[in-house]
Amino acid sequence: MKTTFLGTGTSQGIPVITCTCNVCTSSDRKDNRLRSSVWIETDGLNIVIDAGPDFRQQMLRASVPDIDAIFITHEHKDHIAGLDDVRAYNFKHKKPIDIYATPQVQEALKREFAYVFSDNKYPGLPQMNLITLDSDFELKNLPITVIDYLHYLLPVKGFRINNMAYLTDIKSIEKKEKNKLENLDILILSALRKGEHLSHLSLDEALELIEELNPKKAYLTHLSHLMGLHEEVSKELPPNVFIAYDGLVLEN
Ligand SMILES: [Zn+2]
Ligand SMILES: [Zn+2]
Ligand SMILES: [Zn+2]
Repeated sequence: MKTTFLGTGTSQGIPVITCTCNVCTSSDRKDNRLRSSVWIETDGLNIVIDAGPDFRQQMLRASVPDIDAIFITHEHKDHIAGLDDVRAYNFKHKKPIDIYATPQVQEALKREFAYVFSDNKYPGLPQMNLITLDSDFELKNLPITVIDYLHYLLPVKGFRINNMAYLTDIKSIEKKEKNKLENLDILILSALRKGEHLSHLSLDEALELIEELNPKKAYLTHLSHLMGLHEEVSKELPPNVFIAYDGLVLEN
């Protein structure tokens, strides 16, 4: 299984428009972060988690050849805004894209992309096949474990595929959901910044959760420029914890 980080930034991305801080002006390409998303290749399937505003650029940059499914974690714009560009795959492969989303997220998609779901369809519209996401399911025989947690008050879905789990935009998670995250080789977890935040784990909170879940390796994503420079923050982490960066590829 191969996991490619297509984006590792929070909702504003890095650099932030007009910001002149040392992270936003860093010449280290690891400090440049598009909005968070991953591409997973396993069992001949291509799965993308989230499709934020950088989706087009991310598909081009990573040369994603086809998409079997897009899993949507939650309805915030930085996770759905790029969905119009699934058109390219519709045209090339002559099929709609399967989008897995909770009923609440589906309502948001129908609002945000009203033209896609209107009765009055004109040619060339994106074709999105909405599939209701609730609990564990199989994608062409591949078991997907669905993890529930909260982003302050908003419910979000995380995903475990084999021994890799992806949890973004998380603030709190119940014990019974943590139990689904035992014996992981790779945990990808969001950590916004060093300071506390109402709806995201801070660096310290993320490290605490990692210690509790005890994966072999953990990668932090969905970073704000307030986290600091990739190179400097990396030095402060435990040996099994890493800061993800755009383009990083993991194999397990
Ligand atoms: Zn987000
Ligand atoms: Zn900045
Ligand atoms: Zn969010």
